[in-house]
Amino acid sequence: MYEAHILFDGYCRPTKGGVFANCTCTLLRGPNNIIVDTLTPWDKKDLVKAIEQRGVTCEDINYVVSTHGHSDHVGNNNLFLKAQHIVGRCVSYEQLYYDDSAFFNADGVYEIDENVRIVSTPGHTESDVSVIVRTVDGLIGVVGDLFEREEDIEDESIWLNAGSENSDLQRKNRNTILSQVDWIVPGHGPMFSTKNYKL
Ligand SMILES: [Zn+2]
Repeated sequence: MYEAHILFDGYCRPTKGGVFANCTCTLLRGPNNIIVDTLTPWDKKDLVKAIEQRGVTCEDINYVVSTHGHSDHVGNNNLFLKAQHIVGRCVSYEQLYYDDSAFFNADGVYEIDENVRIVSTPGHTESDVSVIVRTVDGLIGVVGDLFEREEDIEDESIWLNAGSENSDLQRKNRNTILSQVDWIVPGHGPMFSTKNYKL
């Protein structure tokens, strides 16, 4: 069983000349220590501090998962030198880049252990993944930008405007994840319960 610690709630708001944004960053503690989405390089000090406040060091992290390769989701991957790195569907350790099929099965699932699965959820980018974890509080999906934030369930324009390389696929994967998990940790907002949205 795992505990999920949301280290930082992500956000995304329009500002002059662009958007002001950072991702939601999550630490999963259990038989493995897993960090999902690592903010921007400018957040390095804050991230190290937040991890250490949970009684873990960067050296204790054995998996770092970036749900996709955008810069606010990979910014501090280089803090975790003892970890296998999973960026979208790309799995590596040091200079070794594994064949996709070494870890992901034909259904696009990479089982880290009996309580953690990385599942392929393309849409925002073609190689997006989500982390599905069984915790003391129920089944949590840490989904990156498959969901931007809770409000994008009622207002599709939020996730569409955040960029979608394949909106049909994204819509399908959003519905699948929504029906499967109890909680969603979206890419740019606080964790929310799915119970009001079950069909
Ligand atoms: Zn993002």
